Amino acid sequence: MSARRIDLHSHSTASDGTDPPAEVMRRARAAGLDVIALTDHDTLAGHDEARRALPPGLALVPGMELSCRLDGHSVHLLAYHVDPAHAGLAEQLHAITTDRLRRARDMVGKLRELGVDITWEQVAAIAGDGVVARPHIARAMVAAGAIARPDQAFTPEWIGPGGRAYVSRYALDPEDAVRLVSSAGGVSVLAHPGVPQGGWKIGDEAVARLAAAGLAGLEVAHPDHDDAERIRLAALAATLGLVSSGGSDDHGSLTGHRLGCETIAPGEYERLVSRAAGLS
Ligand SMILES: [Zn+2]
Ligand SMILES: [Zn+2]
Repeated sequence: MSARRIDLHSHSTASDGTDPPAEVMRRARAAGLDVIALTDHDTLAGHDEARRALPPGLALVPGMELSCRLDGHSVHLLAYHVDPAHAGLAEQLHAITTDRLRRARDMVGKLRELGVDITWEQVAAIAGDGVVARPHIARAMVAAGAIARPDQAFTPEWIGPGGRAYVSRYALDPEDAVRLVSSAGGVSVLAHPGVPQGGWKIGDEAVARLAAAGLAGLEVAHPDHDDAERIRLAALAATLGLVSSGGSDDHGSLTGHRLGCETIAPGEYERLVSRAAGLS
């Protein structure tokens, strides 16, 4: 029997992916995965549909990707197996999603001032039932002819960090977020720590502080990490006693349907889930 294939990072239309949760599950199995984590931004909303649609042979890890900010920079924290009924967590998710709406409206307003002919109604329609996010605005900008491809929106010219129409938003302190996930019975993994956010990368000391707060793992295998970054992060994980995790960060057609292109080793996965209180 071949080793289990486990991808711990994916997005659906519950946040900014292009495929509904059921379709993500279908594609996960088609990609040869045995375990898939659905990790939409700041929401657990896709899990019920994903569970109902699980193909035989595929297991779902309920997850999400929490928006955090450290020293003015965006940091993403993957959380798995949290208790959806945990009051403190639900309160924070509500605060984040409410502010996402304000922020998206403000960005649309700024873009209009810059002469981009998009409307809030159009962006909301693209987001549908999902959490409104910048990729939805980017798609509206393409429809308006302001840019040719969605990725061109994520520049200083438009809605990249610090860009002319960029608006920052409510986010959690990562140490608080790690503690919150633990108190909700879950485990946390720092997402893509080797991908620069506007030229900035989280430092080793900051990662060590998160580890001391209860962080369980580092996402070592990510499509945007080169070999040198993987080696550096795997060594850091080993030093701090953290799990070396991995996932595709698939956003459907936005990222070219890459489910299963990155995985976590089965042994590391066992170590990770053994730390989730909700699963004992
Ligand atoms: Zn992320
Ligand atoms: Zn992600």
